[in-house]
Amino acid sequence: MSFDYSGRISRVRAVMEEQGVDALLLSVGADLPYFCGYEAMPLERLTMLVISAADLPVLVVPALEAPRVVARPGVFRVHPWNETEDPLAMVEEMLRGAGSAALGDETWAVFALQLQQRLPGLRLVAASLLTRELRMRKDPAEVDLLREAAHATDRVVERLRTHRFAGRREIDLSHEIAAMTVEEGHQTAMFAIVASGENGASPHHEPGDRVVGSGDAVVVDFGGRMNAYCSDTTRTFHVGEPSEEYRRAYGVLRRAQAAAVEAVRPGVTAESVDRAAREVIEEAGLGDHFIHRTGHGIGLQTHEHPYLVEGNGLLLEPGMTFSVEPGVYLPGRFGMRIEDIVAVTTDGAERLNRSDRDLAVVE
Ligand code: ZN
Ligand code: ZN
Ligand code: ZN
Repeated sequence: MSFDYSGRISRVRAVMEEQGVDALLLSVGADLPYFCGYEAMPLERLTMLVISAADLPVLVVPALEAPRVVARPGVFRVHPWNETEDPLAMVEEMLRGAGSAALGDETWAVFALQLQQRLPGLRLVAASLLTRELRMRKDPAEVDLLREAAHATDRVVERLRTHRFAGRREIDLSHEIAAMTVEEGHQTAMFAIVASGENGASPHHEPGDRVVGSGDAVVVDFGGRMNAYCSDTTRTFHVGEPSEEYRRAYGVLRRAQAAAVEAVRPGVTAESVDRAAREVIEEAGLGDHFIHRTGHGIGLQTHEHPYLVEGNGLLLEPGMTFSVEPGVYLPGRFGMRIEDIVAVTTDGAERLNRSDRDLAVVE
């Protein structure tokens, strides 16, 4: 898969100009592959793409990792460095005359600190302030990849609806779900939350030794990377028939999730989608138990801009992709969540996840 890297670089240069930033410095993290197709190894040696206003961008990369770089001569130049060289001095040289630079958010702090020491006059800002303007508006090829990844997780969900949960430890179920995520086409499974019974009330529960039993609700939230793009979906299962109370709350959650997806269209604010879900849950008297934002953007990273949260007045645009994942959590008792990835279209929204949202009663 190849993208229009040159087009992205010229667009980010326009944002640099607008925001008065002289250089963009990208290292570990998703901004780097977004602009040059290369992902830095998250190790101690410096990899850094330097994008300045006019020159061809330069990728400073450890010589031993240079063979991993797919050369794109019209897009950037590769500058390998040997073990005894000082890679930051190369970056420093390229920054001569620059008054400000945007530094990739996930760059190791040690390099940020060294840059500050060596170039005390350089004003540093977070790269995401610039790169989010591009990355949160996906091009059609990116939406296609997100859709394919979402459908792969949907196939896992369909398999889980007939899977045996009772008598199994959360951690074992988590490993099986990760394996299925890969079997269905992902290169990597990144996480598989299995939160049973009272653990379901902790949205980011770490699966452990708890053995799933009859009467448990089980929140399953998992995803991975497929062709560089991320998936993330949640479905809730119930071992045996749920109580009347659980069914009622689940019905509220389903309506809340549907209301939020229906609220998505170009021109509405990110926070209005959060509000659409929250109102339904509040009206049912469960407002105190919906303890997180409604969603997060997704793309090269599982969590990225835009965030669907009160206070975010960002106007949605076609090509934005994010999760819609309200949940209800009763401490000490149970939890539930429904999560779909949604893409903003020219006149509304497309759910990229299509697996059944009904509470799955399993054995
Ligand atoms: Zn989460
Ligand atoms: Zn999730
Ligand atoms: Zn999510």
